[in-house]
Amino acid sequence: RADAEEVLRVTALSKQFRGLKALDDLSLTVTEGEIRGIVGPNGSGKTTLFNVISGLYRPTRGRVEFRGRDVTNQAPYRLARAGMSRTFQNLRLFGDLTVEENLLVALDRSATVDSWRYVLRPISVLRRNRDLHRQAREVLDRYGLTEFAGLPPKSLPYGIQRRVEIARAVAAGPSLLLLDEPAAGLNGEEVRQLSEIVRSVRDSGITVIIIEHNMGLVMSLCERITVLAGGRVIAEGGPAEVATHPAVIEAYLGD
Ligand code: ADP
Repeated sequence: RADAEEVLRVTALSKQFRGLKALDDLSLTVTEGEIRGIVGPNGSGKTTLFNVISGLYRPTRGRVEFRGRDVTNQAPYRLARAGMSRTFQNLRLFGDLTVEENLLVALDRSATVDSWRYVLRPISVLRRNRDLHRQAREVLDRYGLTEFAGLPPKSLPYGIQRRVEIARAVAAGPSLLLLDEPAAGLNGEEVRQLSEIVRSVRDSGITVIIIEHNMGLVMSLCERITVLAGGRVIAEGGPAEVATHPAVIEAYLGD
């Protein structure tokens, strides 16, 4: 779309860990309504890129702009409030809360993702908030999680836990959702369900960036794919374009 707005612009980003350049002069632009794929061999800088974008790491150099504002070095909770939401490779749900309570925490707009603040607003307070409760029920229903509402995530199959994590990230009301290897550990049927969920998230108006090793999923889901190697963008384009790129084939053979 020619009139699409830019949601994320990363300019000349570098991240150095002692001698190692995890990100090396990386630039990237993502427009509204995209499902952007980020692929590349292990150690190519994909998660580091997410960590810098979401404010967990400070870049050594470069800039991150989110919805037209410079957000470089902003704290993760401020970015979350501004509408950036993410999931992690290793699930980060509140293990002692139920699935529904995990959603209540995310829906509570005045709260942040920081657990210290959630301590200040006990779950009992959120539970009594009928409006939040209704919203949580809607999210549970939308993601097929109603039957698991009263259970702690850690008691559920891994594929369901992954779905809860995405539901929680979306419940926070983001305009940009970063998914870090959401298909890891999922079986074929779960990957198919994940694919539908990601599409419906995008169709609800949320721009999605997805790091994923499952090339089949990336190829079917993303209109545009960015390929990283050695902390740099080595290719970018549509699935067909990227799949046949010599640098991509070489990078994957070396993985
Ligand atoms: P990918 O997600 O593509 O597998 P990462 O972004 O996790 O790659 O890692 C890129 C490089 O940066 C790797 O060599 C990794 O070991 C290194 N790295 C990532 N995070 C840190 C860190 N916190 N401290 C030191 N090195 C790191």
